Amino acid sequence: MNLFRTPLFAAAAALAASSFLTACDTKPATASEGGSPTAETVATDSAATAAAMSGTTATATEEANATPAPDPSSIPANKIADAATITARPQVPILCYHQIRDWRAKDSKGAKDYIVPVQQFKDQIKMLADSGYHTILPDQLYAYLTTGAKLPSKPIMLTFDDTDLDQFTVAKPTLDKYGYKAVYFIMTVSLGRPNYMSKAQVKQLSDEGNVIGSHTWDHHNVKKYQGEDWVTQIEKPTKTLEEITGKDIKYFAYPFGLWNPEAIPQLKQRGMVAAFVLAEKRDQNDPLFTIRRIIASGYWKPRTLHNSIVQSF
Ligand SMILES: [Zn+2]
Repeated sequence: MNLFRTPLFAAAAALAASSFLTACDTKPATASEGGSPTAETVATDSAATAAAMSGTTATATEEANATPAPDPSSIPANKIADAATITARPQVPILCYHQIRDWRAKDSKGAKDYIVPVQQFKDQIKMLADSGYHTILPDQLYAYLTTGAKLPSKPIMLTFDDTDLDQFTVAKPTLDKYGYKAVYFIMTVSLGRPNYMSKAQVKQLSDEGNVIGSHTWDHHNVKKYQGEDWVTQIEKPTKTLEEITGKDIKYFAYPFGLWNPEAIPQLKQRGMVAAFVLAEKRDQNDPLFTIRRIIASGYWKPRTLHNSIVQSF
């Protein structure tokens, strides 16, 4: 973090940090690969939704934790399915969250997609539990996609980007209540800064069975990396996160969901086995490095979230 103390880097980081609040990722699209309409425009079959959302209280935890997933490195290359087979498997819904806090007067309309009010978040997670969803983690997803390994019923993955402190203070206790685990994609520049998680908090998340992934050093667009950028943005942050957690860092989320084919070998070379985009199409040649997520919007009531999950994946 020495570089960060120099004025130039501090200024760049401050600028980047201020833009995270409103411009972190591309807008929440709910369109699926088949081009379904967005959740808001689709008439809801309220009876069906109500049925799906009631009953089945989460006996989630035991089932989800019953089968520990193999480490990706233990899966022999000749057991890994080809891209077409991976793409053909039903997608697991993956949600992407940023800030979990109540809206403030100065929050822009657009920012509110990325800021989920506390009660809205609690309601969304309760809906998932009441609907019988089981959270899974990336190693489980990887084993499923590459080898067809079995997943718990109604699998879902919860991911949190950008290191925001409220993910630890607000989201985690809510998830703990249901025995849910999540993936936290950390941008290392923000560690320990006001309103962001500390290294100790990231370690605690990891120790408690959540997965820590990389989200670059300071959130620059992967498509623009050249030369040393790969070291600054991927290699060093990965090492930092490995030192904090004592575990290998194997999963990456592209800032803004933006990627290009050149990035994939660079990520593989630096230990990543899969990477996550946002709602756009997966790449036919490299579906493991373009795994889709949708942003769970701050505007979404549980029913809208449920519709988006069903329609987008
Ligand atoms: Zn981000």
